[in-house]
Amino acid sequence: MARPFSLRNLTLVAVLALAATCGPNPKAPVQVMAMVPNESGTFTTTQVELTTVGNLTTLSGDTIKFVGATRVVLDPNDPTQQINGGIQNLSDDQRYDVIVRDKGADVRGHFVDRSGVLWPADFHTWNMVTTYYNFERSYKYFANIYDGVDPKELRPMRILYWSDTYLNSTTPITDNALYLSFIKSFVVAPFKNEQLIPMPMNPGVIGHETAHRVFNYNALSDQGIHPALATWALEPFNWLKSLDEGLADFHGYSVTCLEAAGCRPNFLGLSLADSRTVAFRNVANPGACMDEPLRTSFKNTVQNEWILSPNLYKVGNLVAVSLFQAGNKTGKMEVLQKALITALDDESATTPGIRQLIEANKQDSSLAQRNFTPEAVVDIIAAHITDPDLKRQVCIEFSDHMQLRCGTFPCMVDGLPAMRNCPSTAMRGTECPRIPQP
Ligand SMILES: [Zn+2]
Repeated sequence: MARPFSLRNLTLVAVLALAATCGPNPKAPVQVMAMVPNESGTFTTTQVELTTVGNLTTLSGDTIKFVGATRVVLDPNDPTQQINGGIQNLSDDQRYDVIVRDKGADVRGHFVDRSGVLWPADFHTWNMVTTYYNFERSYKYFANIYDGVDPKELRPMRILYWSDTYLNSTTPITDNALYLSFIKSFVVAPFKNEQLIPMPMNPGVIGHETAHRVFNYNALSDQGIHPALATWALEPFNWLKSLDEGLADFHGYSVTCLEAAGCRPNFLGLSLADSRTVAFRNVANPGACMDEPLRTSFKNTVQNEWILSPNLYKVGNLVAVSLFQAGNKTGKMEVLQKALITALDDESATTPGIRQLIEANKQDSSLAQRNFTPEAVVDIIAAHITDPDLKRQVCIEFSDHMQLRCGTFPCMVDGLPAMRNCPSTAMRGTECPRIPQP
């Protein structure tokens, strides 16, 4: 007796039937057409080479793996997400199991061979190939600046393609690309309203999201939900989130520099029509400065409000701008990019990394976390820069754009030496108006 077909089984049959007619499926390197933004920011169909793809039809390989038809639901009222006292107490696999409610299946791309170049044959294949290409470029950017260290945490990157995603809401996420640390997966959400370059087709956006994976793995010990994010409050929490966003915008910008169209410091402007959001994400804005209202908000805003506030990104932008200025003024961008990776995690006793600073302070919910300051993090970054000009410039830019408590060096904060890795030749830069120090 035939078992009754569920809708999902029917879909599976349809997918399998299509698979039989999906055409060429060569091994990498493969020449395919993708949608790549040109200098003016409009799409051009461009021939690109995919070098990591193992199975072009399913858009998967050792580095990137697409999964289609998933449904992701983060819902604290879901009983399965209350097991063990909440998802923060579950293992990675358990958490994935209760949050990714529909586990999905392989995607299927359809191609037409035109003289050895494969052309996507439908909308989703265009989108998937372009998204794949952007992840591959991001992977190559990070593999290069890892400087001989295997970026194993980026292999494979799991992409939940066109996922139905609900994050503490009954409204699905649309028009976005996300890295969700709690399921260690990237989400490409369906397009709905945005009329510009969709997020996953924007190389800078995918660079930004990949940077979140890098930060989470290295600085947050690969913990899907790090205890510091649960226990810290006010400035240390806000700083941890803004640092993550600022580094992600800086790396996202850096990924755009690999494109033929050239570096795009305001890469979000390709995808978002809202100029108010875009304006304060531009990493090339020398006028981005900590001012008193922003500092007051940075110090006093509580966790749940900070993660929804534009100020999260404004403080992040000060990080990205400081790095951009330092790298450009010294002409040592790649040295800086590499130093930012080594600064994330360093077990040495003399130059501990950002991960070590977080770990040393993660347990205490009131006092120790206060050691996680902008001054302490900038000092760690400076400690990992071997080039003296770049080290000095990083100190100059951060102390200016973030209006740090150190403006001359050596520096004392609250009676203790601070930013000891900044040389005495550094001093606060002059691009920003001074604000009084607390
Ligand atoms: Zn982000």
